[in-house]
Amino acid sequence: MTMPSYPDLIGKIILVTGATRGIGKSICQSLAVQGAHVVFNYRAGSEALAESFGQELINLGAKNASALLFDITNEQEIKVAIDSFTKTHGCISGLVNNAGVSKDQLFFRLKKEDLDHTLEVNLKGAMLVTSALSRNFLKTEKVSVVNMSSVVGLMGNSSQVSYSASKAGLIGFTKSYAKEVASRNIRCNAVCPGFIESDMTSSLDEKVRSAYLERIPLNKMGSAKDVASLVCFLLSGASSYITGEVIKIDGGLYI
Ligand code: NDP
Repeated sequence: MTMPSYPDLIGKIILVTGATRGIGKSICQSLAVQGAHVVFNYRAGSEALAESFGQELINLGAKNASALLFDITNEQEIKVAIDSFTKTHGCISGLVNNAGVSKDQLFFRLKKEDLDHTLEVNLKGAMLVTSALSRNFLKTEKVSVVNMSSVVGLMGNSSQVSYSASKAGLIGFTKSYAKEVASRNIRCNAVCPGFIESDMTSSLDEKVRSAYLERIPLNKMGSAKDVASLVCFLLSGASSYITGEVIKIDGGLYI
């Protein structure tokens, strides 16, 4: 798949959360190819990985690559990391709230701590990171925020009640935030991937996998690159008249 190039992404400073693996990693790689200054988030324990990933992004063509250590559920860590970054490098004008977790279980077995954790990471985490950047956004131009929701947030799914609720919440956040900040020329959109090859889906057993495939009209799983391509479009000026939108990328799973 060849990706269109978006010249306005060259040098644009874009933060991607949950960038160590899967979709987040692929988004960073695609942004590097576009020539962006990629700011990638990782958690404690992934320091070595962050160091080599920064070099990989530079080799791919990133104008710059910076690693930011924070857990998206920790308001203080987020603030410290973002403040110290912006003091040195200037304003961040793109944000991809990608980090997420899922733990499938039937609703009647759902433990409160699992529910809390899913909402803390998938919904509140994205809101905390966006909030920490709010003042920074007002000082810069052409800001675009992309929230990684899920097709499950739209259609629901058995055994994914808390995940689905967190991703549906993210859509509510996207639309409200888009309305609130549009007058400041800040855009915010949600992406809803379907069944994408990554660590999150590799743990599914063969039966579940083939049941999903039967329901996908394009009859294949998506790749992280497919999602990254859509995210690059939404971060770029090519989508400058799109805000508050919820875009499915699911091979037709939820038509
Ligand atoms: P992965 O499980 O492969 O990666 C998740 C990423 O999020 C990792 O980098 C992980 O970091 C990070 N992360 C988790 N918790 C936190 C936290 N508290 N603070 C910071 N980072 C954290 O997921 P995918 O790449 O598959 O998914 C990415 C996003 O796309 C998620 O929001 C997911 O819900 C969504 N999505 C995925 C689909 C799929 O089919 N794969 C379908 C629909 C939506 P670490 O390495 O430290 O654990």
